[in-house]
Amino acid sequence: MGTKRNYNCESIWNWHPEIVLVSKSPVTYKGFLIVSHSLYTSANTGCFRIKLKLIMPNYPSFCNAEISFGKQIAYLRNKEFSKDVKESMKSAQTVQSFLLQLQIIISKYIWNTDNNIDSKVETVNLLNDFVSRKNVLQDIKAALQSSSDVQLSCDGNLNIIKLSLRGISLKLKRCNNAGTPWKVVSSDLLDIPAFENLEMNVTSLSVAMTKLTWKVELLERAWEQLKEIDENCWVIDPPEPNKSHMYRRIHLSQSISVTITINPLSPTAVPTITFSGSDNEVKRQKDEVSNNIHNWNQECNIIENLKKLLNMYEFPEQQDSLDDVKGIISNCECGICFSEKSETDKLPDKICNNIKCMKHFHSACLSKWLQTNAGNQVVFGYIHGNCPHCKESISCPVE
Ligand SMILES: [Zn+2]
Ligand SMILES: [Zn+2]
Repeated sequence: MGTKRNYNCESIWNWHPEIVLVSKSPVTYKGFLIVSHSLYTSANTGCFRIKLKLIMPNYPSFCNAEISFGKQIAYLRNKEFSKDVKESMKSAQTVQSFLLQLQIIISKYIWNTDNNIDSKVETVNLLNDFVSRKNVLQDIKAALQSSSDVQLSCDGNLNIIKLSLRGISLKLKRCNNAGTPWKVVSSDLLDIPAFENLEMNVTSLSVAMTKLTWKVELLERAWEQLKEIDENCWVIDPPEPNKSHMYRRIHLSQSISVTITINPLSPTAVPTITFSGSDNEVKRQKDEVSNNIHNWNQECNIIENLKKLLNMYEFPEQQDSLDDVKGIISNCECGICFSEKSETDKLPDKICNNIKCMKHFHSACLSKWLQTNAGNQVVFGYIHGNCPHCKESISCPVE
């Protein structure tokens, strides 16, 4: 009476919800056995899922039964272990009692045997990695379920996760650390000084996504300001602005340029302003700024604000297509090191006061050059001397 056969499904399912009867001839159980260990205190790693397949050709007898395991416990399958498993199979009365025995054997082998310590450590690592991956999957699932615009992609091993939003991306690496499972390995935002602490406290992918969204929203306002500058001014640096550049150096005249740096945390507030050029022009422009700074209006367009601040009617238009002007621009290499970009990637920021000379210098180069003359005086951090080309007086910060 074959129909009377009871495969113990009910009770097995109660105790081992992840083990199922996949075939009746031969009787085959397949799935995951949960093995926990009370001595292992961390709540996150308290239990492991061991993949197994049990074939019982003579069910319900364990005669000729075979069992195979997934690779999670490859490190503990030595002769001893196989012997123990076989023995418990021989003495087992039911599938359920065998599985219970198996749980005890496996946990004993993982935690209590005198096996060589290396293989034990490897087993623990392997199992921890397994649990960590499972947590990662849950983390990813939760992140995907959140209603965020952030795009999520990952590599096959779930080791690297990439989050991206409106052209800004964030790469996270998985670490086997319960408190902070993610480490930021690269980001377009890390180049922005105000966002240096981005990698702190990334406790889950959802947290990382929220942080990214918040920062991109903030940056959106800063990018609007910078876009205005790019469209209305002659930007000489950076040569090819990207989304992490928060500054623009604007050509004002042959003898002066201004660098505007937007604070991404308050993009419409007065930006940081520095001038590069001849001493006379820089002084004149600095005076204009201190006279007009109270007129800065956060509600106004940045270009209007800058015009008021610098007391300018219009910003000069970019003229790089004209050959004669090109001469002036390409002539802006440093008069001391003869290159345009310094070691620290800076354009020359000093220009000689003498209108007939107007040589460009890197402050660092000029400072070094002026210091070679023992007669040059230092006053309030500025060294005073003569232009290396025309001998007119010139000064720059001591570096
Ligand atoms: Zn130089
Ligand atoms: Zn000069």
